[in-house]
Amino acid sequence: MKPYEKLLLENKVWAAEKVMDDPNFFNRLADLQTPEFLWIGCSDSRVPANEITGTRPGEIFVHRNVANMVVHTDLNLLTVLDYAVNHLKVKHIIVCGHYGCGGVKASMTNHNFGIINKWLRNIKDVYRFHREEVDNIKNEDDRINRMVELNVQEQV
Ligand SMILES: [Zn+2]
Repeated sequence: MKPYEKLLLENKVWAAEKVMDDPNFFNRLADLQTPEFLWIGCSDSRVPANEITGTRPGEIFVHRNVANMVVHTDLNLLTVLDYAVNHLKVKHIIVCGHYGCGGVKASMTNHNFGIINKWLRNIKDVYRFHREEVDNIKNEDDRINRMVELNVQEQV
């Protein structure tokens, strides 16, 4: 079985289990979406919003990109934000970073990542604002993790 076939099969198993537990599960979800939270998180596959918060489908509205950025010119983010606030009436907006973020780590180098450089430029601005503090941290992992924290602050 190819990996993508396994995903499709797992999805069918998941859907069947949901219906077995609650025959109206999908009907209820189709009728109403009233999440209390908007989650802006990193695309990193190790930080799935629903799974790490124990929320079920319908409970959290999610936007993800590399390094959980809130970029003022990002029409995708702005659309999600507007829809969440003005239509879904979410009560809370979460910007969630994660230690060891590859996007933050990449932004702290001078490597050429091609098209990704344009996105990393936004994180480099965070570094520029906090350069004195960050450059005084000697351990590389600690320096990156402090940048993860500062990046969340700046995105908020
Ligand atoms: Zn990340």
